[in-house]
Amino acid sequence: MKLTSTRDAAARVTPAAAILRGISPDGGLFVPTEFPAVSLNEIKEMAGEDYKARAMRILSAFLTDYDEKTLKGYIEKAYGTQFDGDSPAPVSKLENGKYVLELWHGPTMAFKDMALQLLPHLLTGASRMLGSDERSLILAATSGDTGKAAMAGFADVRDTAILVFYPRGGVSEAQRLQMVTQRGGNVSAVAVEGNFDDTQTGVKNIFGDEDMADWLQERGWRFTSANSINFGRLVPQVVYYFSAYADLVQKDEIRCGDPVNFVVPTGNFGNILAGYYAKRMGLPMNRLVCASNSNNVLSEFFTDGRYNSHREFHKTLSPSMDILISSNLERLLFEVCGRDGETVKAWMDQLKQKGSYAVPGTVQNHIRENFWAAWADDGMTSEAIGDAFKRYHYLMDPHTAVGYRVYQDYRDITGDDTATVMVSTASPFKFCKDVGRALGERGERSELDWAKWLTEKSGLVPPESFSELYELPIRHKGVCEKEAMEEAVQNFVASL
Ligand SMILES: *Cc1c(COP(=O)(O)O)cnc(C)c1O
Repeated sequence: MKLTSTRDAAARVTPAAAILRGISPDGGLFVPTEFPAVSLNEIKEMAGEDYKARAMRILSAFLTDYDEKTLKGYIEKAYGTQFDGDSPAPVSKLENGKYVLELWHGPTMAFKDMALQLLPHLLTGASRMLGSDERSLILAATSGDTGKAAMAGFADVRDTAILVFYPRGGVSEAQRLQMVTQRGGNVSAVAVEGNFDDTQTGVKNIFGDEDMADWLQERGWRFTSANSINFGRLVPQVVYYFSAYADLVQKDEIRCGDPVNFVVPTGNFGNILAGYYAKRMGLPMNRLVCASNSNNVLSEFFTDGRYNSHREFHKTLSPSMDILISSNLERLLFEVCGRDGETVKAWMDQLKQKGSYAVPGTVQNHIRENFWAAWADDGMTSEAIGDAFKRYHYLMDPHTAVGYRVYQDYRDITGDDTATVMVSTASPFKFCKDVGRALGERGERSELDWAKWLTEKSGLVPPESFSELYELPIRHKGVCEKEAMEEAVQNFVASL
C-alpha cells in the first residue's frame, strides 16, 4: 500500500514515511492510493473475534510495510488493560435499532485514546524502519483532551518524549489535573501565560525554528507532531466502525450485509472521515450523520456547498468540537472531486486567503449520497442529555448529546429508520457539572461532588482514573511566559 498527497496525486510514500513526516511537503495530507477491500465474509468472521484481532485485520491492510508480528505486538500494548471493561470500544443498546458506540473507556476518558494509545508505537516503529537513529520529541498545544491523551500514549515509550503546553486557566480543572499528574519519565506539561491561540502559535513557531531544530539534532532529537492529521491517527479509528458493526452482527441485532447509519459528533472531521473510509472499504453503511455544535461550519457546508470559516467563534458545552477549520475535511474533498490534487490545493489556498471556498454541484451530490449534517446549540444539547436519561436511563456527555439531538432531527426529517450507531466520544464524568445541570440539578459543588451526585442519580461509577485524579501528586508544575516556550523545551530536553 502506498500513500499519496491530497495536493499532489502523483506523490508516493510508504505508510511509515507518512506517519513519521505527519504532513506532505506540498502542504497536503497523506491519503491511501486505494482503499483495501474487506468482504462481507471477513466481516462475518470479525463478529467472532475480539477488538485486537479486528484491529489487526484493518491495520495490516493499510500498514503493509509494518511487519505483522511487530504490528500485533503494538496492538497488544495499545489495547490492553489501560481500557476498562471487556472491550476497548463496546456497543450499548438503547432500544431496537438504536445503539451507542462508547469510545471513552481508555485512560483519558475520551475517544482520542483509540488512536493515541497506538500512535507512539507506530511512530517509533516507523523511525526504526526508516533507519533514523534520532529520538522523537513530540510537542503539542492543547485546549484540553488531546494533550492528556498524547501524554498517556507516549508515557515511557522508548526513544520518545512529549511536552504539552496548555493555556493557564484555559482548561477545565479535571483536564488540568489529568495533565499535571501524568506519570512517566519522558513526559511533561507546562502552563503558558496566555490563551490557546498564544499557546498554539508558540508551538508552531518552535516547529518552524531552524536553530531550534539544529539544537535538538545535536542532542539526538527530532520534532514530531501527533495531531489529528497524522495518518497514524486515522487508521486506528477505522477499526472501531468495523468493530461496532461486527458486534451488532454477533449479537443478532442486524444481519451481516444490512446497512447501518453512524452519527458522529464532529470537530476536526477525523473521526467521521474514518467512518467514510470504512464505508469505502466495504462496510455496509447507509449515511454518516455529521453533528456539529454552534460552530456549525460543517453543517452549512454540507447543506449549501460553501465552506466559510469567517464567522463568530462560540465557546460551547462541547469544547472539543469548537473548531472553525476542520483539517481532515481536505481528505474527503480529495475523494469526492475525483482525486484531483490541483483542485483541492486551489480550494485550500482560497480558504487560507479568503477564509472560504465553494464546491460545485457534482461534488455536493457525491457528498449528500454519503453524509447528512445538522447542528445543535447548547440548549438543545442539555435537553438531549435530559431526554436520553429519561427515556433510556443512559447518561451521555455533551459531545455525544450533540449527536443524539442531531440524530433525532435526522429521523424526523428523513423518516429513515435504518439501524443507527451513535458514536460516543467522551465519558459523562469528564463533564460532571454540565451533565448534572442538564439533568436539572442546581447549586454549586466541586467537580468531585458533582461526580458523586451523578453516581447517586445514575448508579454509574466513574472510572478509577477519574477518582484517582484528586489524590495523585502533582508532577508538572511548570509555568512559562508565552515568549519563553523555547526555553521550556530546552529545559525539558536537558532533563531527559
Ligand atoms: C476530538 C473530539 C471530538 C471531535 O473529533 P474530530 O475527529 O476532531 O471530529 C469530539 N468529541 C470529543 C470528546 C473529542 O475529544
